[in-house]
Amino acid sequence: MKGDQKEGAAAKGAKNAGAAEGIKNAGAAGEGRARGGLRRLLELAHEAVFGKSCVCAACGEDVFDDALFCERCLRELPVNGGYVCSKCGRAIGADYPVCLECKAHMPLYDAARSAFRYEGRVVGLIRRFKTGGRYLAEAFAERMAPLLSAHFPDADLIVCVPMTEKARRKRGYNQADLLADALSRRSGLPYAPAALVKTRDTAAQKQLSAAERAKNLAGSFRVHERSLCRGRHIVIVDDVLTTGATADAVAKALRGAGAERVYALTAASVPYRERVRTPEEALSAGGEGTAPPAPLKKA
Ligand SMILES: [Zn+2]
Ligand SMILES: [Zn+2]
Repeated sequence: MKGDQKEGAAAKGAKNAGAAEGIKNAGAAGEGRARGGLRRLLELAHEAVFGKSCVCAACGEDVFDDALFCERCLRELPVNGGYVCSKCGRAIGADYPVCLECKAHMPLYDAARSAFRYEGRVVGLIRRFKTGGRYLAEAFAERMAPLLSAHFPDADLIVCVPMTEKARRKRGYNQADLLADALSRRSGLPYAPAALVKTRDTAAQKQLSAAERAKNLAGSFRVHERSLCRGRHIVIVDDVLTTGATADAVAKALRGAGAERVYALTAASVPYRERVRTPEEALSAGGEGTAPPAPLKKA
């Protein structure tokens, strides 16, 4: 994105956000909010004890400057930088415009992009991110932020894929919320943490086909703050895009609330194959990672 476009989008967001209750990080004024202030205080306390970004988020090696991944990890981690489906953003084997799944069922979001392919060490990193490794949000967001400006330069609001309150309490946090917050701070785009709610727990998705996932998720997301969404160009943030069914269900809810454009941005996405591999299959195909392999729970 060109600097002026970015500033324009951020300024627009900040201006609109001034009056809205449910917006975070809407420029300097938003930073003063008590909740954001407390979080920043905790971050500063964490930095005081553990030092600022002094080890690689993936391997724990010392890093210098403000790098979040070491150079070796950046070389080895599967960056989603080759051919990708122009719609869902998943890696595809050749230079086709869209993958066969998007061709068969065009998603309701305008476009999705992801920083990494969900394979190799990234599988273990995502697993760690969902089981206490909150610090990974910054490292992932650092890799996601350039995609936001490059592919969605007109975006003016960030939301996250919500969890039910029960699921969030069980995990202690929503990893998508951490990513969205980190991205908002990096990009200057306002973040509406409570724009959406998940109305019911849905069955685990990992064994389901794309069509079954869509059916499983139907009607499970509701826009809580409709006035925030009307006419907006909204980026949905999540950790992993598997088939895109979750992003699609959230996009449907946002469009129903009047969103003009809907994008999805994730830390990782499962490469497109003839048949989408389940997270377990991805693990057994070289996802030894640095965390113990275990079934991935998709809330
Ligand atoms: Zn490293
Ligand atoms: Zn696709």
